[in-house]
Parts: sequence; C-alpha cells; structure tokens
Amino acid sequence: MYARRMDHLPPYLFARIDEMKEEKLRQGVDVIDLGVGDPDLPTPPHIVEALCTAARDPANHHYPSYTGMLAYREAVAEWYQGRFGVDLNPKKEVLALIGSKEGIAHIAEAFVNPGEVVLAADPGYPVYKTSTLFAEGKVYEMPIRAENDFLPVLDDIPADVVKQAKLLFINYPNNPTAAIAPLSFFEEVVEFAREHNIVVVHDNAYSEITFDGYRAPSFLEADGAMEVGVEMHSLSKTYNMTGWRIGMACGNPEIIAGLGRVKTNVDSGAFNAVQHAAIAALTGPQDCVGQACSVYQERRDVLVAGLSEIGFDVRAPKATFYVWVPVDDCMAFAAKLLDQAGIVATPGVGFGRNGEGFIRFAITRSIERITEAVDRMRGLDL
Ligand SMILES: *Cc1c(COP(=O)(O)O)cnc(C)c1O
Repeated sequence: MYARRMDHLPPYLFARIDEMKEEKLRQGVDVIDLGVGDPDLPTPPHIVEALCTAARDPANHHYPSYTGMLAYREAVAEWYQGRFGVDLNPKKEVLALIGSKEGIAHIAEAFVNPGEVVLAADPGYPVYKTSTLFAEGKVYEMPIRAENDFLPVLDDIPADVVKQAKLLFINYPNNPTAAIAPLSFFEEVVEFAREHNIVVVHDNAYSEITFDGYRAPSFLEADGAMEVGVEMHSLSKTYNMTGWRIGMACGNPEIIAGLGRVKTNVDSGAFNAVQHAAIAALTGPQDCVGQACSVYQERRDVLVAGLSEIGFDVRAPKATFYVWVPVDDCMAFAAKLLDQAGIVATPGVGFGRNGEGFIRFAITRSIERITEAVDRMRGLDL
C-alpha cells in the first residue's frame, strides 16, 4: 500500500522503550521523563499576550503570505543584527518557517536530485536524513565522535562521495551531543562548500540556550557563509514556543528562494497572529531567555554532579538542554533505567548508529525531579 520511499525511512527504535514506559505508568510508577526535547517552562506572558491581541484582530484571520509578514522578517533581521552582527535583507534573505523542522524537511526537495548525496552528521537530528530520503537522495553519515569534540572531520569524507554531494547539514550547539562549534569550524565548512559546490544548511535551534557565559555563533558570521548557505533558526527553544510552530530560514537569497518555491507549493504560511507574537518575542525584553538558561544551568549542574558521583564520565555541556553520557549498551541501559528506576532517557542509537554507546538526558524537568532521578540512580547497579 505504501510507496517504496516509506521503506527507506529509519526504523522507529523506541517502540520497546515506549511500551515499557506505558507499562510502568499503568503500574502506577512515578515515571520521570528525561526523554523529551521540549521545554517544560511556559512561553513568557508578554508573548502570549501578543498572540491573544493579534488573534482577536480579523485582519489576521486570512491566509498569511507565503514568505511571512514583512514585519516578521524585519524583526528577524533586526534580531540577527543585534545578536550576531549579521546583516540580512528581510525581503530576500529571510523566510518564515512553520517551525525550523518544516524548513529542514523541505529544503532537500529544492536542491537534491534523486541519487545525489546529502552529508549529515551521525548521530544527528533525524529530520536531516528523512528530508534527504523524501527527495530520494542518498545520505552519507558523517560520524561525529567524542575524540573530535563531536565535529565531523570533513577530510575523512571519501572524494567520490564529496563529488556527488549537494547539501550538508550541520547543527551546533548540537542535538543530541550538546557539543558546540567554534567559528573556525564554520569557516572550514564554508571553504569546503565553496570548493565542492555544496549548499550548507546550519541548524541553530539552540544558539540561545547557553551556559557559563558562552555565546554561540551564527553560521552566517563566518566569512563567505552567505554565499554558500542558510541557517535554520527557531523560536521554539529560545522562548519555550515549541507548540507555536514558528521559525526562520536566513542566508543566501538563491537558497532562500529555492526553499520558498517548495513551500509555496506545500503550505500556506504561518498564522499571522503567531507571527505577531514572534515579533513581540524577538523585539521585546530578552531577560526571559537568560532566566530560562539559569534554570537549565542549575539543573545541568545537579545532573552532571550526580552522574559524576555515581561514576559516569560526563562533562557539563556549554549549551542545549541535553546531557550526553557515555554508557556501554545504550538500549540495554535505557531499558534498565526505566525498569529499575522509572526514568526515561533516550538511547543514543536512536539518532544514528554512531550514537551507540551514549544516552541522552533532557533537563526539561524541574530540579526536584532531576534530583529525585539522581537519587534513584544512586541505588542502582548501572
Ligand atoms: C528542537 C529542534 C529543532 C526545532 O524545531 P522546531 O521545528 O523549530 O520546533 C530543530 N533542530 C533541532 C536539532 C532541534 O532539536
């Protein structure tokens, strides 16, 4: 019944964990879910207020524009200038997205012919691969490993693969490894992309979720980046707006136009009231972002200290709300954690084969719950 391309989608590896979780909940176990990459904190009130006001205005009840309201794209450009010192032309270099996942999922359609290669980090956010597969391209998995600070080694990609490569996905601060990249890595990527004529898509969803004074760069800060690539960004993680579905693609105008042409034929834009709320988020007070980071940082410290004490080799991440911990067999570990301690965490292999040997904890639960999780783990033979 299903098209062949459906067979190529990666298998869903968490069915067993999901089943076990359901079973535990049925048994009345107080499950602590550190699996989900979705902020538990609410959207700041001034953003909710802006939505409510805009939703009441009938002018916002119609089809939105395909590219996003100019006022929204201007707010994005202004935010990029203020935050990264990157100049963007809001008319040509910014496109509204229905969440950055939407842009990531559609971009391969615009640039990848059947059989062409897309370079994607492994482990990685699964949508880079599925975007490629829906465009009937071939994924080349660039392993990202601890010994290289979870950055791909571009020189390791075989020459014949590079020759067929059309698109490159990168993502720093990284999900699931919580790794960060220096601007020099982005510069290396720009050189590589220029030399081999590859479109770069940088996913910067976590640029604002940073700790210990670290500030994450934009890919577009790298010299020449505007010539070779775009950056996918999102309000989801920055302002606790995952449910609102609003993001942006920024960068090279031709690439933006290509993605825009796909989108014009697929969706009809993001609800204008949501765009008004997004403007309020981007142009309003930013102290809510720092406050959320402080909350995550405190949770991170509790989890990392606890895991270290128990005997795990874990470093405190500088960004994202994940803690990536080396374990022996990630599926077995996740099953044991759930069965014996009622804790859900995500096995690394779910993000690609090179995620084996790791488990991802999301610190999207209260400090009390994280403390409780650590206490439960202390009693286990892990
Ligand atoms: C959460 C996340 C996104 C953002 O998704 P939205 O569609 O904008 O909500 C993008 N990339 C990565 C790696 C993520 O973890």
